[in-house]
Amino acid sequence: MIKRRRTRKIKVGDVIIGGSAPISIQSMSKVKTSDISACVAEIKALEAAGCEIIRVAVKSHDDARAIGRIKRRIRIPVVADIHFDYMLALAAIKSGADKIRLNPGNMRKKGEIEEVVRAAKKAKIPIRIGLNSGSISTDMVKAALDYIKLFEEIDFRDIIVSLKASDVTSTVEAYREISKRCDYPLHLGVTAAGPCDSGVVKSAIGIGSLLLDGIGDTVRVSLTADPVEEVIAAKRILSSLGLRRFAPEIISCPTCGRCQVNLTEIVKKLERKLSTMDHGQSTKHQLSIAMMGCEVNGPGEAREADIGIAFGKGSGILFKKGKIIKKVTVKNAVKELLKNL
Ligand code: SF4
Repeated sequence: MIKRRRTRKIKVGDVIIGGSAPISIQSMSKVKTSDISACVAEIKALEAAGCEIIRVAVKSHDDARAIGRIKRRIRIPVVADIHFDYMLALAAIKSGADKIRLNPGNMRKKGEIEEVVRAAKKAKIPIRIGLNSGSISTDMVKAALDYIKLFEEIDFRDIIVSLKASDVTSTVEAYREISKRCDYPLHLGVTAAGPCDSGVVKSAIGIGSLLLDGIGDTVRVSLTADPVEEVIAAKRILSSLGLRRFAPEIISCPTCGRCQVNLTEIVKKLERKLSTMDHGQSTKHQLSIAMMGCEVNGPGEAREADIGIAFGKGSGILFKKGKIIKKVTVKNAVKELLKNL
């Protein structure tokens, strides 16, 4: 069991970040926010994949104004991503943003920051202090703490913090340090992690190391890919650590010369079927399913899982809670297993 760091509870629309709330999954829209139809279509696909909070880039007043119209057509809270221009933050708040992200690397005028903080306080929405190593030359932890101090001076504590670098070590070190210095919830991510495959590995190591330490309240995997891939990766990271479950866990062997069935295809088919299960907290999501290629480790693993199949030549033995249920053909294996789930 991972013991999570105690953090404040912050509300973003209907989603709670911090406290004992489940670690939420975020992504960022990759289209122009002012292109409302494209933005809504992208967000709907993300919602279907399990995204719980969406961030949109606010580069212009048209983008800021679009937030209100986008919100009417989607279900999840919208975060306005602001850089350089504090007036855009004010416009996004007015438009109904559920949270503002400010970057201390490019917004430094005290009076302007205070104005945004006061507007957020009035609108009862939180602000993420979102640092990126690429846009700040000084120490990220110090810059975050300076910003936090400024917010606290005007009695604003609806704060979430992120300190993202594009290398895993600096990211992990920065988060570990800030976690000792404040109790605000932390938004985890490795920035600009890269294309899908390598970016997922980098993010899994960075985000996963922190989560194992009990650090982190919400995650965003940044990939140069379809944002749905970011959500899938985030779900896999959280479920690998047992922090959340979105589908039953598959325990399958890597196969070897002893395997006499096409286990790769069978497991792919099972994975496809399981991915269509509800994202809600179904009790079935807590189950583990073993798919083993032969009788060497097969029956043992299959027995230890809630349900499983150990394959032999052209058929398999279906186990449930340690007991043999029946013999299944390769063709019907997935169907029979799901029937008995
Ligand atoms: Fe090979 Fe059997 Fe082990 Fe799978 S369970 S890796 S087929 S020995």
